[in-house]
Amino acid sequence: MATFELKAECPVTRARAGVLHTAHGNVETPVFMPVGTQATVKGLTGRDLAEDLDVRILLANTYHLFLRPGHELIRRMGGLHQFMSWPRAILTDSGGYQVFSLSGLRKITDEGVVFQSHLDGDRHVFTPESTVDVQLALSSDIMMALDECPEYPVSHEYARASMDRTIRWARSGYAHYQRRKAENNTSASLYLIVQGSMFEDLRKTCAQELVALEADGYAIGGLSVGEPRPLSLAMVETTEPLLPRQRPRYAMGVGMPEELPEYVARGIDMMDCVLPTRNARNGYLFTSHGRVIIKHTRYKDDQRPVDETCSCYTCRNHTRAYLRHLYQAGEMLYAVLATRHNLARYLDIMREIRHAIVLGQFPEYLKAVRAVPVEVE
Ligand SMILES: [Zn+2]
Repeated sequence: MATFELKAECPVTRARAGVLHTAHGNVETPVFMPVGTQATVKGLTGRDLAEDLDVRILLANTYHLFLRPGHELIRRMGGLHQFMSWPRAILTDSGGYQVFSLSGLRKITDEGVVFQSHLDGDRHVFTPESTVDVQLALSSDIMMALDECPEYPVSHEYARASMDRTIRWARSGYAHYQRRKAENNTSASLYLIVQGSMFEDLRKTCAQELVALEADGYAIGGLSVGEPRPLSLAMVETTEPLLPRQRPRYAMGVGMPEELPEYVARGIDMMDCVLPTRNARNGYLFTSHGRVIIKHTRYKDDQRPVDETCSCYTCRNHTRAYLRHLYQAGEMLYAVLATRHNLARYLDIMREIRHAIVLGQFPEYLKAVRAVPVEVE
């Protein structure tokens, strides 16, 4: 079981530093988890991730791997770590979010959700129990309970019904997980997800009900679904004080680089987002002094690296001019180099944050980063 050890707490904000102990190594928190949707972080090798970037934990998507190549195939190949040759920790989502955002026709019942594959239209069913079994087949270190992630905005009435369902699913999924744990002695943890859309009362009720189950960790889901940023942060502020201090808190699907310290300041230990990797491919590079949009003409003969303060492979070896050229020419090396840099930037931010918390200087750090503009000057 992935256990969590609290190492330091900020006396002013809610920020904490800790260590997550998993069967596939220790993970220092707060942590940002790169997204490896199809059992790969697009464009990067395991060597890039482990040796160059020192990534300790990756996220893989259950929905995608369930549909292709299939969880039973991955089980036969020795589990996800062996299949993708990744010896470090893996967190898998429950697949619920993709069912609600990607799949065709779907029907939600108390038993689970019937959906159509976005690949071939085939009908499938996810239940709170089956998604635990799929994640066990993948040999995930940290599994997520099936939840319903409502879009934004929804009525209070809909959000309440949806949250009640998420609670019922969490109870049956968690009971199933405990039965499986008793049977096979799995080392995986199952985290439960607090929903409730953007309603404070629902977030509180959901958190209280789920905390009673005493799970290994808790996530705040249903964020980054189109709501204004202050509202996402407000939902975290509402939920986090109700979560147990000794358990990790995971904000799902966040965020922009400047938001990472904001979530940490509100007591979040784990985050994941496709932004650094997807934006890299789309030409948006994050630096310590703002964002570089690489296609801009002003970079065409720019001899500087993307970020002069970054020590990633891309910044040590290549100029903005070269990256812009690769981008304009549609070369695949562009995506490889850009992804390496953006992930390095995210991981550097997390290391700076953790360092500041451990030294007791997080409030000063937060103040300094809030002053940095979003766009490069
Ligand atoms: Zn760099």
